[in-house]
Amino acid sequence: MRGWVGCNCGVEFYVYKQEDIADHLRECGYGVPCEGCFLGFDSRPGLAQHLKLNNGCRTCHRHFSTENGLRQHEQVHLPRTVECFKCNEKFISFSAMILHLEQEICWQDPNHELEHAAATCFQWRRFVERSSRIELLNGVVDGNPFYCERCYRTFPFLSALFQHATFSNQCDASIDDGALAKLVRWLELVIEYGYVSKR
Ligand SMILES: [Zn+2]
Ligand SMILES: [Zn+2]
Ligand SMILES: [Zn+2]
Ligand SMILES: [Zn+2]
Ligand SMILES: [Zn+2]
Repeated sequence: MRGWVGCNCGVEFYVYKQEDIADHLRECGYGVPCEGCFLGFDSRPGLAQHLKLNNGCRTCHRHFSTENGLRQHEQVHLPRTVECFKCNEKFISFSAMILHLEQEICWQDPNHELEHAAATCFQWRRFVERSSRIELLNGVVDGNPFYCERCYRTFPFLSALFQHATFSNQCDASIDDGALAKLVRWLELVIEYGYVSKR
């Protein structure tokens, strides 16, 4: 858009691009800009309504085409409280930390110690597919060895199972109780503290 606009502060100014309105409002304070698309609003509720209609992030205002996309994005603004078992990096969720371990950024895991540990947890039957356990114990990760005992979805990686249990709306699984809570503590013992179990 181009042209003259009047602001509630009484100033009229020429706008070359949408950002000019946002720039002005940040200075005069007589309105609030959306930092995602630079539209101006008279009030915070007006902006809030706009963000809601456009799947806009309430923190950074970025717009998303789907509600799901917005929900995933919003995680980047969550506080990072989960520390890596192997380094000092912090993550917003346990599943994000496990993903980081799977990517072998701060450690090497050629024998799949991580997945092996899951298969040695005394509650393994509640998240490891029976037919995959021997492979995991032999350091082989193939197919979908993990599953959710609440909805029976299967997963190729531990991080995917934890991600599902933490964030899925369709399933009431959780990593805060039950078998997955035991697994979380077990992985900490084995991977962080080097506890070695008998198979
Ligand atoms: Zn103004
Ligand atoms: Zn906007
Ligand atoms: Zn955001
Ligand atoms: Zn790390
Ligand atoms: Zn599930």
